[in-house]
Formats: sequence, C-alpha cells, structure tokens
Amino acid sequence: MSATLARQHVIDPEVCIRCNTCESTCPQKAVTHDERNYVVHFDLCNACGACISPCPTGAIDHWRQVPSAAPYSIAEQLSWDSLPEQAALAVHDGGGMPPEVLAATQAASAGQGGAVSAPWSAQTPQVNLYPVAAPAIARVAGNLRLTDADASCDIRHIVLDFGATAMPVLEGQSIGILPPGANADHRPHYIRLYSIASPRDGERPNYNNLSITVKRVTEDHAGKPTLGVCSNYLCDLKAGDEVRVVGPYGSTFLMPNHPGANLLMICTGTGSAPMRAMTERRRRRRALKEPGETMLFFGARAPGELPYFGPLMKLPKEFIDVNLALSRMPGESRRYVQDRIRERGPDVARLLAHAETYVYICGLKGMELGVDAAFDEVCREHGMDWRELLARLRQGGRFHVETY
Ligand code: NAP
Repeated sequence: MSATLARQHVIDPEVCIRCNTCESTCPQKAVTHDERNYVVHFDLCNACGACISPCPTGAIDHWRQVPSAAPYSIAEQLSWDSLPEQAALAVHDGGGMPPEVLAATQAASAGQGGAVSAPWSAQTPQVNLYPVAAPAIARVAGNLRLTDADASCDIRHIVLDFGATAMPVLEGQSIGILPPGANADHRPHYIRLYSIASPRDGERPNYNNLSITVKRVTEDHAGKPTLGVCSNYLCDLKAGDEVRVVGPYGSTFLMPNHPGANLLMICTGTGSAPMRAMTERRRRRRALKEPGETMLFFGARAPGELPYFGPLMKLPKEFIDVNLALSRMPGESRRYVQDRIRERGPDVARLLAHAETYVYICGLKGMELGVDAAFDEVCREHGMDWRELLARLRQGGRFHVETY
C-alpha cells in the first residue's frame, strides 16, 4: 500500500500575537480562530503565501509533513499550546512528497513564501534568536511618560537593557514581551509585540539597550473599560525590573542602507515607534552628509498626545520634513495623515516618482484605506498611475505597511 504525504500549513501558538493579520489577508479564507488560537484549514489552504510576509512575528511560517489522509484537524490545532514536533513519516512505493512540493516546503520554512521583500540594501536582520521557551532577560533602564499629564492616554518610552545578552536589532524590527502570570484558562499569557523605537546601535549609542513605545490600554475595542495585560504590566515597570523578551522579529519592514535613499514615513499614534528608530538612525549619521530626503506624516489627537513630538519638532526641515495631522484640536476640523498627504501633493508626488523612495506606513489599521486613497489622488493629479506604481514599489521592496 502507498501513503502520500502533504505539507500542512500550521501556526505557532507560542509566537502568534493574535493580531488577525493572517485571517484578514488569506484569499482562501483558510485561517480561522477561537479565543485561544489561530489555525489553518488544511482543505482550504493552497499555500499561496499571501499571509506569510504580513505576519509580524513569523508565527504563520510553519509547515509539517503529514499523511495526506490524516492532517491535523482544526479541533486539534485549536487545542495546541505549542507546535507538535515533525513526526518521522515513511514514504512508500515512490509515493510521498514530490520534489517541487519539498522545495516549496523548504522555501516556505526559510521564510521566503511571501510577496513583500526588504529594501535591497537593508542589513540582514537577525530573527527568532530568543524563543518563548528561552527568552532573553532584560532590565528596565528607564520608563518615561511621553504624553502630557492631562492627555487622554498614557504613552511610555521604555528602555530595556540586555546587559551581557546579545540582542542585535534593526530599525523596523519588533520584540515580543512575555507578561508574567496566566490568563483565565490558567495558561501563560501569549506574547505581545512592540516595534523597536531606537536605532540599531542602541537607545544610547553603543549601549546594549533598546526602547519601545507602549500605550496603556484601558478599554477594549468596543470602548468597555478593560486593562490591557501587557501594556499595563510594561507601563508600571520600574527601573531595574526584569522583563522576558522574545524575538527579534521582522525581516522586511527595514530601512535601506544605501546613501541617496528617500524615506517617506506615515504613522499614527504609537505607530511612530519604527519611524523614530529610522529617524534617529539618520540623525546620528548626519555628519556623513549622505544624500536622501526624509519626509514624515504623523497623526495624533493633540500635541500633548503625540509621542516624540518635542524632539521631532526640533529637527531642522532640511533633515526631516515633518507634517503633523492633529485630529482633536479645539475649534479646528479633524485632520488625518491622509489630509496632510493631499495638502503636500506636489512634494509627495515628487518623492513617489523617485526611484530611490521607500515608503513606510505604521499605526492604526483604519489609516491604510485613507492613505491609499490619498496616494491615488495625488498620483492622478500628477499624471501617475498609483496602482501601477504601488505594484512596482512592492516588487522593489519599497512599500512597507505595519498596521493593527
Ligand atoms: P490613536 O491615538 O488612537 O490615533 C492616532 C491618530 O490617528 C489620532 O489622531 C486618530 O484620530 C487618528 N486616526 C484614527 N482613525 C484614523 C484613520 N482611519 N485614518 C487616519 N488617522 C486616523 O493611535 P494609537 O492608539 O496610538 O494606535 C496606534 C496603532 O499603532 C495601534 O493599532 C498599534 O497597535 C499600532 N502599532 C503600535 C506599535 C508599537 O510598537 N506600540 C507598533 C506598530 C503599530 P481620532 O482618534 O481623533 O479619530
């Protein structure tokens, strides 16, 4: 009797941050979830890879060889606390995995399954150095409130020091935080992801530390008062406290390394974290006088709620062209980043048309559509086809989105 093998797409429940990106991306509607896990329907998944690159942690990029007739069921996957080991499977009678499937499996396992690539000159990132089972231990070196005392939200700039533990990161990457304690099912809390807000050489240059930007969550998506597990844990940390860190994650939302590259950055709220990292990287290299423009669109409710507002505004315009979109200023109409993009149409069009421009969008999921419409409009007004340009930007590793 012959037994054929298939590759089954599975999601690592230990690393998954339950952000729903895979489920909303999958064209086959193959991803589903319950309150515990995100899982993949074996029968619906065609391994197209659309979900691979957008996943912030790489939890999505796991594959198992299984007997075609007995893949892991949805119920089994929903019960997992960690991925099962790859079972040793015999292949009989010349059946089993065809070479092209094996090659595809290996490519996918190596994280090459998605459509988005990093800028060609980006430094090769380190990823997954510290898994959930063996997290790095960092100590809090500082916890600074960024928002005004009377602001509607508490956003923190938290500096983590890794001492003698290596934590090599690049601007645009994220780390996972393991909050202590357990959920209502007595299972350890799953990891929460935060973008690194400092450049590769550390929050303090040449120190083994990094910073993250954390907003204290005090209500759920429906506005019901709820204390976010990880954000409240982090915001309450004191200098010297230990934090368990996993990762780093992210291999595409990276900045170009070559002189002459332009950065067009659009962010809302704490989505400013990677933009701060990239801006600070460039600021520290100003003495080199490398060519390349930096333009930033930054949305927040009011100046007092804008992370990094003060330091950013002190940077000269020839170094960074900062465009603030403040949405809740008394007596003024609501302005979003997409409105500011329209207002700066000629300069945005010039940058978009430039072959060395790299676009980064980070923040609220809701901004994606608005920014897309604004780019479309700006392009039309300047004789360009946004859809065609977007395809080229994506193909060249020049368009990067990280929204939740
Ligand atoms: P927020 O304070 O709720 O909003 C920031 C600004 O965006 C406000 O002015 C808001 O206006 C405006 N806004 C709301 N809807 C918009 C839309 N459809 N288009 C454009 N602008 C819009 O932001 P936040 O709570 O900091 O959220 C930031 C997001 O970034 C979160 O989803 C977070 O997960 C994500 N993120 C965070 C990190 C990190 O490391 N912490 C990293 C990457 C991404 P109004 O409220 O006045 O409508």
